[in-house]
Amino acid sequence: MFVDIAKVHIKAGNGGNGAVSFHREKYVAAGGPDGGDGGKGGNVVMIADKNLSTLADFRYKRKYVAPNGGNGGTKRCSGKKGEDLILKVPFGTLVKEESTGKIIADVSTDEPVIVAYGGNGGWGNTHFATATRQIPRYAKDGLPGDEFDAVLELKLLADVGLIGFPNVGKSTLISVVSEAKPKIANYHFTTLSPVLGVVRPVEDKSFVMADIPGLVEGAADGVGLGHEFLRHVERCRLLLHVLDISGSEGRDPIEDFDKINSELKNFSEELSTRKQIVVANKCDLAEPEKIEEYKKYFEEKGYEFYEIMAPINEGTQKLMLAVLKNLADLPPIKQYDTEPFVKPENAAEINREFSITVKNGVYEVSAPWIMKIMNNTNPDDYESLQYFERVLRESGIIDKLREMGVKNNDSVNVEGIEFDYIE
Ligand code: GDP
Ligand code: MG
Repeated sequence: MFVDIAKVHIKAGNGGNGAVSFHREKYVAAGGPDGGDGGKGGNVVMIADKNLSTLADFRYKRKYVAPNGGNGGTKRCSGKKGEDLILKVPFGTLVKEESTGKIIADVSTDEPVIVAYGGNGGWGNTHFATATRQIPRYAKDGLPGDEFDAVLELKLLADVGLIGFPNVGKSTLISVVSEAKPKIANYHFTTLSPVLGVVRPVEDKSFVMADIPGLVEGAADGVGLGHEFLRHVERCRLLLHVLDISGSEGRDPIEDFDKINSELKNFSEELSTRKQIVVANKCDLAEPEKIEEYKKYFEEKGYEFYEIMAPINEGTQKLMLAVLKNLADLPPIKQYDTEPFVKPENAAEINREFSITVKNGVYEVSAPWIMKIMNNTNPDDYESLQYFERVLRESGIIDKLREMGVKNNDSVNVEGIEFDYIE
């Protein structure tokens, strides 16, 4: 079954909790804190697999959960890192956050894409020992992993898309110019899933062509077949608009052309401006004078016009060379701009409000949002400490401390973590 859209629930692993523990040894009365950090939760990662052509697997299994990080242990033992959950998807899969419609990822290259990040592990109590607090009895919990409902949407990656009414000869065309072997039959809707084929008109140049099911009138409103397939030409750089130029089914090629274009426009304004080449098929059944008339009509409208007889490969090589020529001047296959998933509570952090009071000579900073950054900061790592400092500076906390008269070596306590102020 061809499936190009699926709803799934994605959850990255939570970070493990930091441990509260104290060093114990025979004859040592009270050892120092030795609670280890929690391990990081596993990410949810997507990898494009060229052997996959549908999202069918995601119809059967809907929940994808990466393992949590392990909790920290005694003796400074860090918790185990949660393994990444790797999901294989077809090339061209978009991951959208269902609630906002935001595109989180466009999995269209060989690069693995992290779609949901595991939470960092919490600090064990070893991190909270200070000169003034020798017995820290608390550790931090791990942070939750990213979690959201997602819509997976396959938008095929093809340079050229074939569009046109059913039965005009699209499948025949792709079958003679590429290795693709779609079903060809003399009735409507024979093509029920898009088919990709590689076309190599000259030795060292090739492009990918997509045959999508025929469009019918009203398809853009979701009536009948077609609408759901239009997304597969959205990335195409060039469209070949195939017409039955003989009007063999009692249709008028110009009317067909206009109908398909208004369908495209209803679906997407942008798509309706995509460059098109007019392909007049079934020339064997048409009168030469009629073909000339149509040629004149379309060329006057600014379209390139190619006459072919798809089943016998007549005129197709010339058409494919024209396609190559056009592609050389067209932008690359569309990639979608993506925005990483943002946990809902992060919005509250943007304000970064804080208050500072002085108690017994200690500057106490209350800034609940900073807890998360604390959790993300590895005190043994110079860069992450610098980052922490930068946050203190950028949020205005340092300025405020100065304003309040803080001096070198004064104690500052930020949400329970105490350090000496040094200019
Ligand atoms: P699609 O629905 O657009 O994919 O059309 P198909 O490729 O399945 O073709 C529909 C029918 O038209 C089939 O019976 C083909 O054999 C026939 N056909 C395709 N191209 C030509 C052509 O150039 N001349 C003639 N006489 N028949 C054609
Ligand atoms: Mg077909």
